[in-house]
Amino acid sequence: MVNIVLFGPPGAGKGTQAEVLKNKYDLVHISTGDVFRYNIKNKTDLGTLAKSYIDKGQLVPDEVTINMLNAEVEQHQKVKGFIFDGFPRTEAQAEALEVFLKTKNTDVKAMIALEVADDILVARLLERGKTSGRPDDADEEVIKNRIKVYYDETAILKGYYEKQNRYHGVDGVGSINEITERLSKVIDTL
Ligand code: ADP
Repeated sequence: MVNIVLFGPPGAGKGTQAEVLKNKYDLVHISTGDVFRYNIKNKTDLGTLAKSYIDKGQLVPDEVTINMLNAEVEQHQKVKGFIFDGFPRTEAQAEALEVFLKTKNTDVKAMIALEVADDILVARLLERGKTSGRPDDADEEVIKNRIKVYYDETAILKGYYEKQNRYHGVDGVGSINEITERLSKVIDTL
């Protein structure tokens, strides 16, 4: 299996690129944000819990997120691999993913990061907020908190994967096609 973590701050374009790459490489795309939003829409207990964090721009607790991710992976047997989008976001999540994939005799082949400057991120997210219907995209304070949480809790994962020679950074500014090309160059070497 080829499992890829698509990484980067909120608004970097992970979801957009994951949709393209899953078709191109025949991989299963798991977006933790999408799974949370699905649960919020369907008013499940998980959705109610997640919403209380997401609306403030905070992370959903690790244990909840890890259990959910594992359950999503379990739903897909005999696949070529996964694109994880929005997971892991903390060191505890990265370690849990390692342990979980090991039980399936597989691992994370690479973390590929979309690198985008903060001012561009805020502008992109506010723009997305006009049409996405996502409350966490509509409020500049919530957006800024998400970016802060990214630097406080998530950005350290770069070092985690770098130490193991599994980190690849890609310029996330350009057209969708250009960025897909850059990501594909990395994936084709895996
Ligand atoms: P973005 O990357 O634009 O912030 P996502 O759709 O990936 O959007 O995530 C939306 C929200 O869902 C996050 O701000 C966070 O509250 C929650 N979330 C998503 N993935 C995780 C995760 N791995 N751990 C904790 N919370 C998460």
